[in-house]
This record gives sequence, C-alpha cells and structure tokens, in this order.
Amino acid sequence: MPPVVSPHHTYQIIYEDYRQVVIQMFRDVSIHMKGGVITERDADFCTVRTRIPAGVVSTDQLRQLARIAKQYGTGNVHITTRQTIEIPHVNPIYLKKIAAALEKNGTPVGSERDEVVNVVSCPGTERCKFANINTIELAKNIDERLFGREMPVKMRISISGCPNGCTSPLLNEIGISGRVDPVREEGLCTGCGTCTEYCRENAIRIRRGISVLDAEKCLSCGICVRSCPFELLKPGGTRYLITVGGRRGRHPHPGRELISVDNPGEVVDIVEKVVYWVYRRAWSGRLLSDQLDELQFEQFKTEIVGKTMGK
Ligand code: SF4
Ligand code: SF4
Ligand code: SF4
Repeated sequence: MPPVVSPHHTYQIIYEDYRQVVIQMFRDVSIHMKGGVITERDADFCTVRTRIPAGVVSTDQLRQLARIAKQYGTGNVHITTRQTIEIPHVNPIYLKKIAAALEKNGTPVGSERDEVVNVVSCPGTERCKFANINTIELAKNIDERLFGREMPVKMRISISGCPNGCTSPLLNEIGISGRVDPVREEGLCTGCGTCTEYCRENAIRIRRGISVLDAEKCLSCGICVRSCPFELLKPGGTRYLITVGGRRGRHPHPGRELISVDNPGEVVDIVEKVVYWVYRRAWSGRLLSDQLDELQFEQFKTEIVGKTMGK
C-alpha cells in the first residue's frame, strides 16, 4: 500500500520547496546583481553572459560551454555583438552552479551594466594582412586590468588593427586602432606608381618622377608601405590611436581623438587613466559622449598629452 498523503501534507511539501528556492535566490543575490546576469522578457528566466576578451575561446572551452548550456539552459547559445557567448533561458535557482562551472571553464560570468564590459578586438596581426598591431594580446591585457570595473556609465572598449575599423572602435566609449605612417627613403623612388594604385585615399601622387605624400589625406593604414616593390616606403613608426566618447545605437557618433602612443603598455596605462577619469567625473544616466564637454575633455586631453610627451 502506498502511503496516504493528505492535502495538508502536499501543501507543506510545496511550501517547503518554494521556501528553499527563495532561500537559494537570497543566497545568490550577489550573482543576481552581476552585470552578466540579464533578466529576460519572461522575468522567471535570465540570460547569462560570459567574459571572453576579444571573443577568443579554445575548442575545449567551447565544448564545455555547450555542455553547460545544455545542462542549465535550453541547449542554445547566443553570440553577442560584443564577441561574448551568452546562455539564454536559465532558471535563476541555478545561477550559483552555472557561475561556478563558467569560472572553472575560464569563461566567467561577464558584464553588461554600467561597468567596463567585454573588450572587443579584430584578429589583428595574428591573422589579418592589413593589421598594424597585435590587437588580441592588447584586448587581453586591457581586460585583465579593467574588466568589470564599476562605472557611472557603460564603458565599451574596442580595438581594430588598422583604420578599416572592422570592430568600429570610433563608435565605442574607448576606441583603439593601429596606424602606420609611411616614410619614403630620401631621394629613392622609381616613380613606378604602385603605391598610388594601392592608396585608397588618393594621398600619394607622382610628381616629377617621385612619389609625394599628402599627409592631410593619409589615414596611416600602412598599405602603401607593403605595396612598394622596391621596399622604399618604410613604416615611420607603428602607433595606437586612442579615441574617447564614441557611441552607437539610436544616435551614433564617432569618438574624439585623445592621443597616439607607440607601445601597447602605454595604451593600457592611458585606457586606465581614461576609465579612472570617467569614474571620478561622469554622471550616471547619460552616455559618456554627451558629457565630454562638461567633463572638460579638452583639458584632460592636454594633461594626458602633456604627461605622455614629458614622460
Ligand atoms: S580592422 Fe584592419 S586589421 Fe582588423 S580585421 Fe579589419 S582589416 Fe584587418
Ligand atoms: S598609409 Fe594608407 S592612406 Fe596613407 S598614403 Fe599609404 S596607403 Fe594611402
Ligand atoms: S611604389 Fe615605391 S618606387 Fe613606386 S612610386 Fe611608390 S614609393 Fe616610388
């Protein structure tokens, strides 16, 4: 004979289950507050966003992410515009477990609120023939120093290896792009015109049998340097152009140029200074791009440029 269960007993079991869920959610409150946990349209579920700087994950990590998504979600994942992977439709009672599993996988819970969010980067010199800088390494270094830092405004950072800007660095709060300024060896030029063919900005003309650069038109993409069959065009230095205050969304606007520096270590230091400056001065509730004048961006720029030049 199966045991007789009274309605009162059934009610007690349901109540106890509900109580345990509430207790668990209360314990997990810090996880609920994380930027990488996003309440869905159906508020009984959330999407868990991961932290994947430059969008680079190993195949082992991908396999594990798939396993976690199957165990705690619907079995689907979503690739975001900021190069992260998110796991949709997670029951909040599993947040603690999913966070632990993601941490173990090296793809921890990410961020989405007013914080430094996932750092985006193109392949850079690791794979792209147009690249002037190692973007992926830079993205990882910036992530290590600044990811998740709480801010009054959302801080998006994007890196591109050249002015083609495949990751739209100009439309991020902080943008970085790799530049190379061409320099022709004095007196040497056959006037073959190959570099003029390659330059998409019409920034090189052949005059009196030699190439002449129009610096106003030049975007410093470095393509002409690689095009000269006689290797007479040299990189006059690789630099990292940093822009501040760009935005996309409803009213896209390009960021303003802050400074160019010539090594990745300096880039990380300056990005940290920008983040700290915004942290101290900006107000919440408005995009950084709308506040730059009030934050005295030009004065900040003068200070940064002055300090960097004076090193
Ligand atoms: S931004 Fe430049 S370096 Fe990066 S992927 Fe695009 S073309 Fe290549
Ligand atoms: S660096 Fe690029 S934009 Fe400048 S001259 Fe060379 S090809 Fe033209
Ligand atoms: S490709 Fe080289 S040699 Fe030819 S015009 Fe340009 S700089 Fe001169």
